[in-house]
Amino acid sequence: MNILVADFIYTNEGYLQGKAVAFDETIQKIDDFDILKNLYPNAKIINTPKNSVIYPGFINSHVHLEFSNNKTSLEYGSFVPWLKSVIKNTDMIQKCTTNDMKRACEEMLKSGVTSFGAISSNGNDLQVCTETPQRVVFFNEILGSKEENSEVSYDLFIKRVENSLQHNSQKFKTAISIHSPYSTHPILIRKAISLAKKKKFLLSAHLLESKAEKEWIEEGNGEFYNLYNEFFGITKPINTKQSFMQEFNDTPTHFIHLSSATLEDIAYLESKNHSVAHCPRSNRLLGCGILDVCKLNMPWSTATDGLSSNWSLNIFDELRASLMLHATDDLHNLADSLIKSITSVPAKILDLNCGVIEVEKFADFTIITLPDSPNAVEEISLWAILHTKQVNQLYIGGNRYV
Ligand SMILES: [Zn+2]
Repeated sequence: MNILVADFIYTNEGYLQGKAVAFDETIQKIDDFDILKNLYPNAKIINTPKNSVIYPGFINSHVHLEFSNNKTSLEYGSFVPWLKSVIKNTDMIQKCTTNDMKRACEEMLKSGVTSFGAISSNGNDLQVCTETPQRVVFFNEILGSKEENSEVSYDLFIKRVENSLQHNSQKFKTAISIHSPYSTHPILIRKAISLAKKKKFLLSAHLLESKAEKEWIEEGNGEFYNLYNEFFGITKPINTKQSFMQEFNDTPTHFIHLSSATLEDIAYLESKNHSVAHCPRSNRLLGCGILDVCKLNMPWSTATDGLSSNWSLNIFDELRASLMLHATDDLHNLADSLIKSITSVPAKILDLNCGVIEVEKFADFTIITLPDSPNAVEEISLWAILHTKQVNQLYIGGNRYV
């Protein structure tokens, strides 16, 4: 047994002061230090520096590790030119080494991320995801816009799913990602969703990221028309916005972005119990605008997306950017919502037994240290976001990794 002591503990009821947490692989009890010490006299005591805060380990619900070697190769500023640059750099995934992906996991770890959702395009990230200390929801991605290739695409996809299933464990969970409405043929979508239902796999899909995607799936024109014509000889969208959203009607899905969704689209998705990953830096860099998260009624997470559209996987960098980009929202409410968006909310979305400091949850902790005493306990979320670059200590399943 261990007893972790810090000035502040973040819980769903706010920041507790003067308490400690007893844990082994899971959390056993949260109480006064003296009470815990009496209860567990042989426990190892872990102290933290003054002004430290214990958070549940953070969760980054959407990342693409296979693009971890991009720094200056892709074109930023607007979605379709960026997508063309990804298509032109198809060897990027092959060139991305195990070490590149390990470094990416390490960067997340040092910023407090103890669980992440990895979108796997090729399966090249499987080994890294099974060896990293973090919990991983491994989303095998399916895409392919041509009907005549759908059988081959599905067979390759199934092989990747089966490979990843062999690694399912307490720390690794196989899941499915449908790339997007513009890239995935309805035949593939239906097969993948029916597999997800049968095997109880979590589902994720990019949706309504750019204005160009919206124009294409709503009206069949815009920049995507030229792109699809030029690269694939396709002149009309394979899914409409409505038909795509309806495919997911009875399978709650973690949609990514929605930065170009209308209020009606969002209300529809909310009515079907879906959730969304908000990737503010990625959306900014690809010219996709910003999702108004403070007005959402559906659960939303904050995620970094991959290094194909970001400069770091440090979750605190993402939270700071989000604070700046949502410039008119109440600062303190936003800071509190942002902390929820990387803890309790994504834990529910990804069905992980962590994300809150509560008895019986996994002992996944991220400990940060504020540079000075907070002037008010209610403001700790803001100070933590503004001042943290690296965490002080980090535990996953009761084991220390930072
Ligand atoms: Zn993505």
